[in-house]
Order: sequence, then structure tokens, then C-alpha cells
Amino acid sequence: MRIGLDFDGVISDCGTLKSVAAKTMFGVDIPPSEFKKELVVNRGLLTMPQYRELQNAVYGTWEYGKQMQPVPGVTEAISFLRAGGHALRVLTSRDGEMLRIAREWTIDRGIALDPLDFQGIGHGKSKADAAVGLDIFIDDDLDKLKLLVGVVPHLFLFSWGYNDRVNEGNVARRVASWREFIERISEIAKAR
Ligand SMILES: [Mg+2]
Repeated sequence: MRIGLDFDGVISDCGTLKSVAAKTMFGVDIPPSEFKKELVVNRGLLTMPQYRELQNAVYGTWEYGKQMQPVPGVTEAISFLRAGGHALRVLTSRDGEMLRIAREWTIDRGIALDPLDFQGIGHGKSKADAAVGLDIFIDDDLDKLKLLVGVVPHLFLFSWGYNDRVNEGNVARRVASWREFIERISEIAKAR
């Protein structure tokens, strides 16, 4: 099958890094599980310009880029899926320098032995056009998944503390780990 992956919050764990950056840059304690723009800004923990500055540092500089941690199980899962004949593609909102960092980090960290196919969409833009033809897509942002309804038949929300209050309804199925995602993929493959 053709499987699409988001990058931040699916391949790399960005919540932890944002938490570290908030402390370093602004002296604010925000746990990774709370690190979603809407939560952080609405509660007045960071202003919108501060949030943007933090995002630019975390996604767009090697200072933070080299501290990114992989989501547990991702390396094994990618090699398992490829061995099973599935085609993987990364569709990320990152572009420019941010995209370059993601791509190089994935190679440097040995996340995928053969480099993954990355497509940078740009922040605030829909992934729908790029997702045409995929059988499955996983993202940690429900708003991104909503735009793929009717485009990709099987949508998954990677579950984290920062998105557990959003109601996924009929848009996507939640998975809490790569292991669980692999199980769902196997079920879909079997049913075909
Ligand atoms: Mg994401």
C-alpha cells in the first residue's frame, strides 16, 4: 500500500523539544503533553510572536534540530513496512531550511536506511493535493487530517497528550504508538 506520514509528531518527537525551547528561550515551564499552539497561546503562556519564534528555532535551526528525538519504534516500523512492500512518503508542512533539516536528520539518525521520499507542503497549507493516491495517512494534527477526508481512505491520528482533547469523530482513528499503527495497517492490508 501507499502510506503517507507526517514528520513532526509522527517521525520526530517535537513536543519534548518545544518544551526545552520554551524554558531556554522564555523561561516558561510547559510540559510536552501541553505543547499545542492553541493551548499554549490561549492560556497566555506564550504570545503568538513568541510561539512563532520558538517554532522557527525548533524547526529551522540545527541547534535544536540535532536534539530532535525519534518517536519510539519509528525506525523499526519503517524498515518493517518497507520489507512488507509498502511505499512510504513523508508529507510535511516544513519547507525550505526546515525541510532540509528534517531530511538530513532522518538520514543522520539512521531512521531510514534508504532515504525517505519527503515532500514539503508549507505551513498552513493543505496536504490534500500531495496526498492523492495514498491509501493511508497519519498525522498528529486533526485539522490537517480533516482536509484529507474523501482523498485518503484510511486516516490515522497519532495520539499525544497535546491532542487528546480534540474529538476525532469519524475523521480518523487514533493510534498511540507505531506498534499500534502497524497493527492497523496489517488489518487493512488483510481486508483488501
Ligand atoms: Mg505534525
